Amino acid sequence: MTSQVSPPLSDSARELAREVIVRGPISRGELGRRLGLSPASLTRLSKPFFDQGIFVEGAELTDGGVGRPARPLDVRVDALTFVGIKITGDTAVGVSTDLRANELHHADASFTSTDLPAVLDAIESVVDALGGAERFAGIGVSLGGNVTGDGVVQRAPFLAWRDVDLAKAVRDRLALPTTVENDVVALTAAEHWFGAARGRTDFAVITVGAGVGYGLVINDRVIRTHDVGLGLLGHFPLDPAGPVCMEGHRGCSTAMLSMPSMTAQVATALGRPVSYAEVLELAAAGNAAARAVVDSAGRALGHLVAAVSNIAMVSTVVLAGEGIALLDVIDPVFTAALAADRDPDASPLELLVDATGFTSWAQGAAAVAIQDSIGSLGS
Ligand SMILES: [Zn+2]
Repeated sequence: MTSQVSPPLSDSARELAREVIVRGPISRGELGRRLGLSPASLTRLSKPFFDQGIFVEGAELTDGGVGRPARPLDVRVDALTFVGIKITGDTAVGVSTDLRANELHHADASFTSTDLPAVLDAIESVVDALGGAERFAGIGVSLGGNVTGDGVVQRAPFLAWRDVDLAKAVRDRLALPTTVENDVVALTAAEHWFGAARGRTDFAVITVGAGVGYGLVINDRVIRTHDVGLGLLGHFPLDPAGPVCMEGHRGCSTAMLSMPSMTAQVATALGRPVSYAEVLELAAAGNAAARAVVDSAGRALGHLVAAVSNIAMVSTVVLAGEGIALLDVIDPVFTAALAADRDPDASPLELLVDATGFTSWAQGAAAVAIQDSIGSLGS
């Protein structure tokens, strides 16, 4: 995913940076326990980060039961800024962020051709609008598709791309450390380090929006396999009586839950175009056609959340994506469908909602750039 060549940094230093970024402010005692480091090692490993102004000492805390006050470690979140860009079929949507992927500013640029130079032009104009490449410590770019470990887009159907070395092209254009990642993997990484599931070691992410996405964190690591970028949960069968997706599956997750499918169904029933927001408003107001589509989606989402937690054996599920306002209008059918498919003896399911909406995709792209930059921090 990273395309930069970083100076070598010891695994211990990298883990230290990660722990302080994700968990800070954190006491030295807790850090030492988590990382298996002596106080002397911790001091030695921390020094380069202090020298660069990345680590700071927080307010005094009482450290453990001994009552001896100690200053916890934290990062100065504005020590470095990053840019994250999500590429859709026609737009580069960007945010600048601090060291914890908090949005500072946003900018978009559309493109009319999906040829690489046109997409690069859009990426560059977003970076320029956010202040220019020289402001940033790195750039992350995410898109729906299969991305290799060195940032080559193997397959991105909505751009009609095969084997495009996007990381190299962006790096050549902007002279910035560049990370390219599948969009759902990037969003999952952002939830893991900075978002709704910050600090959790095992959870799934389900996104609802233009499609349906699925990410997984097991043993504190985001799962990255060859197939992770294929969007295979996007066509998971959910309702044998549901509508048909563009690939011909009846009642698959895309047919039941994607925003285009839901709006198309309601538009057909009403005989006029509707927006997704209007579908949700109409359902909330009791419109029968919208209510039927939304309730079917709610049941489908309940079955999907239960299937994911049952199969992956995780008890935390993060729900995210630009269509996730659906959650506001799908009870009680959602909760009932979810409960019906969970064993009563299974761990209680923790549902976390990231209501950020579309911006969360660009923040995810920034998050993977931040994670890759840790290879060069403090060295
Ligand atoms: Zn399908």
